Parts: sequence; C-alpha cells; structure tokens
Amino acid sequence: MFGEAFCYILYVKRREDGPARPLTERRTDLDEKDYTQDVETSGHGEDKDKQKEEDRYEKVCYMCRRPESKAGPMISMPGGMNLCHDCMQKAFDSVTKGGMDFSKLPNMPYMNMNLNDLNMTPPAVEIPKKQKIKKKAKEQPVLTMKDIPAPHVIKAELDEYVIGQEKAKKVMAVAVYNHYKRAFLDQPSQDGAGEDAGTDKNIVIEKSNILMIGPTGSGKTYLVKTLARLLDVPLAIADATSLTEAGYIGDDIESVVSKLLAAADNDVERAQRGIIFIDEIDKIAKKKQTNTRDVSGESVQQELLKLLEGSTVEVPVGSNQKNAMTPMATVNTDNILFICGGAFPDLEEIIKERLMKKTTMGFGSILKDTYDKDPDILGQVANEDLRTFGMIPEFLGRLPVTVTLQGLTEDMMVRILKEPKNAITKQYERLLEMDEVRLVFEDEALKWIAGEAIKRGTGARALRAILEEFMLDIMYEIPKDPNIGSVVVTRPYLEKSGGPLIRMRG
Ligand code: ADP
Repeated sequence: MFGEAFCYILYVKRREDGPARPLTERRTDLDEKDYTQDVETSGHGEDKDKQKEEDRYEKVCYMCRRPESKAGPMISMPGGMNLCHDCMQKAFDSVTKGGMDFSKLPNMPYMNMNLNDLNMTPPAVEIPKKQKIKKKAKEQPVLTMKDIPAPHVIKAELDEYVIGQEKAKKVMAVAVYNHYKRAFLDQPSQDGAGEDAGTDKNIVIEKSNILMIGPTGSGKTYLVKTLARLLDVPLAIADATSLTEAGYIGDDIESVVSKLLAAADNDVERAQRGIIFIDEIDKIAKKKQTNTRDVSGESVQQELLKLLEGSTVEVPVGSNQKNAMTPMATVNTDNILFICGGAFPDLEEIIKERLMKKTTMGFGSILKDTYDKDPDILGQVANEDLRTFGMIPEFLGRLPVTVTLQGLTEDMMVRILKEPKNAITKQYERLLEMDEVRLVFEDEALKWIAGEAIKRGTGARALRAILEEFMLDIMYEIPKDPNIGSVVVTRPYLEKSGGPLIRMRG
C-alpha cells in the first residue's frame, strides 16, 4: 500500500512538472575519449560492455532532475527510475504530514506502468490539487468539578427519565459524583513522595468503576445514557461479546477507548473524563469445562484489567483498526469511568443457594419460598456469587461498586409508558398535536400493553414495539380527515374487539 501511495506522489509530481524526462544524463565528467579508452582496455564480456554503456551516463533524479554528481547517490526504483535522497524524504514527508486521497488509487491503471515507456499518455484522472481542509470541531468547554452536580441533583434529574430503580439511581449518583471528585483531585504519588506524611493529602482515592446487574430491558443502558447526557460527558457503549483476546478475530480491548475518543470528537482531554459502558459483561464469564483456549471469556476479563485500573493506551484516531496510515493518540484511562452491565442469568439461583446454605436445618423450605418471592433477590448479591458465575476475582476487584436493577413490574411498565419526560405516549401525543388532534390513552389500555410486554420477557424494550404495532393505523388514518378532533386508544381496540374512540371537532 505504501509503495502504491509513493508511486502516486511521484506521478502527481510528474504531472505538475510537465513532460517526461530522461532517466539518465550523459556524464559530463567522462569525455568521449576516456570512454572509448575505457571500453577498449576493459574485458570483452557482453555484461561488461553493458556496464560500461551504463557508466557512460549518470543517474538523474526523477523529481528534481539533478544528476548524481550534484544530488549525491541515487536510490534506484523499479522501472529504471532514480530518486535523490532529498526528493525521497520530501515524498515521505508529504505522505505522513498531508495524508493522501486513496480513493483515486483503484482508478490508476498506470500504477503498474513501465516507467521506461515515458512517451505514454497518462489516463485522464483528476488529480486532487488542493487538500481538503478539515473543519475545526466545535470547541467543547473544559469540564470542571463545578459542572458535576451533587448526588441528590443527579438523582433528581435521573428521576425525570428513569422510573423506579431508586436504589440503583442513588448508588449511581454517589459513585459518579465521587468518581469525578477523584478525577479532578491532584492525586499524590503512590509512594507519597514530596508530601508530608500524616496529612490528608496522602490519601489516594481509588477508582470506583461500576458493575450493573439487572434483567434485560430493565434500563441499564438507558440509565447510563441519561447520566452521560446530563453530565455532558462523552459516552461509548461497547458490547463485551464482540471483544476477543488480542490477535484473535474480533475487536481488541482497546477498541472501546477508540470508540470513546470518537464520541469525544477526537478530543483526548474530553475522552479522558468520559464514560465507557461495556454491556453483556456476563457473556465473558469464565467458560466451564472447556479444553480450548477461552479467547472471548476469561482472557478478555484479564485484558480488561489494565484498562479498568487506569493505563495509557495508544489508539487509532478516527478508526478502530490500527494500521501504518492511521494517526494514533495516547489516552490515559485513569479518569475514565467504566460501567460494566449484564443480565447475569441464573445469578438469582446462585444467590439463593448461598443464602440457603447459611440457614439452619429445617427452615430451608420456608426460606426458599421467601427467597423465590423476593423481587429484589439480586440486591443481595455478594462477590462470591459473581465468582461462582464465572467472573475472576481480579476483575471484580476493579469494579468495587455494584448496582442492581429490579425486573420491571406491570405497574412500573405503565409508569414507563406515561411518566418519563420523553415517554413514548407523550411522543405520540406530540406528533398528533401537530395535526391539531388530541390523543388520549385509556389507563386500561396502558395496563394491557404492560401485561403484553411482560409476556414477551424483554423488559421495557417491548413497550415501544407493541405500541407501534397499534399506532400505525391511527397515525395513517387520522390525518386523512381534518374534522377529527380527538382519538382515545381503548383496551378493546388493542384486544381487537373494538376500535379507537374518535370525536369530531366542534
Ligand atoms: P437494558 O437493561 O437491557 O440495557 P435498556 O436500558 O436498553 O435495557 O432499556 C430499553 C428501553 O426501555 C430504554 O430505551 C428505555 O426507553 C426503556 N426503559 C427501561 N427501563 C426503564 C426505566 N426504568 N424507566 C424508563 N424507561 C425505561
């Protein structure tokens, strides 16, 4: 690839400089007499004759046209082309500094041309004259501690969007607040050098990454997204299932930092104060009974350790693949908040089993019943349960804050449908308002939708899918008749035993 790029520069240069030039020039320091003498006194072999014939000419730089006697020794290229050191350097510099438009390369049949054939007319390809000037990204204000609201303010703002999950919101608010306090603090060196022993300043605050456990569709991603938006920090969402040990097919671990850098408009400073959410973290649990190398499980946990703890990584800018042509940036992950989330199926059983073991004989069956009915059994999760699940202790050690989310109940689903600031029903109401039509959802209809969503088992994610199914006809039919003043979505309409209630204007 680099060779192609290089030839491309030469070609561009040649077009700019005008007609083709000879590759060699007759030597001026060797006159005709010397030459004939030379040939006569030398050996008789054909090769030697050829050599002499070549010696008669000195090499000329293909770009600057200076002969070897002026420009110094030449670098010979395929096709009989020679380049002086200066021009070679210039060519390298223009590739590394300015970049190139490689999109033109496939249209360049002359890439493999015989450069001896200098009379050829090059194909009509538009040569980019000016380099595109990249628009300067909008300057983002530098984040300071003043921009981070107090935990109660964070929680209150989360309340406007996230229904229920009170404990999770509170734990998150405190963890995030503390994380940023730590990030804006001038940490003393680990050995305490240069500090007075015994002062508060010697206390090193450790990183508090978060582990989020909750059933699918319970709002893990939504909570993190809402949090990043209200703190105005860049957020990258990655999927642990796509990560593999370096060298294997899949994304390498550092690709998550690349994503964050992209989310921060390639602003390293901003990225270093951002949030990385790694979803489906339970999928990288240690595989049980495996004879092959666990490249997407335990190894990924091992490789994540350094990132979570805080290390300096080299990541490609504007791409998630490293190669020779991609500029690299150095990102320190020390102040990046890592949140790992997962549904951890069967974790509830592991927790129950542990709790049961602790109980005295005889009360087992009563207690099992209580645990089975406990909707917040996940809240009792302990480190050893997660270890049993397949997470390695070192990995858990780097996620000291555990947040658990409850499975959504029917009541919570109904609230999710109508209460959040950007609730789905509010969005539909707004859309019809633009047609001057009032849309109303009957409470019974909302309950029916919530019940259906629970049956699907994908949490609140199912709510939108169900609602969209029924709203399609309404959104299609209502704008047809300008006399319609209001529409009520009723339960019989959803149960397909009736229609929506429509009232005309006036
Ligand atoms: P997961 O826990 O699988 O990451 P998501 O966060 O992706 O689930 O939730 C899917 C959608 O459900 C979200 O986009 C959001 O609209 C809605 N949702 C889930 N939980 C809640 C909640 N507690 N409050 C409000 N909306 C929620």
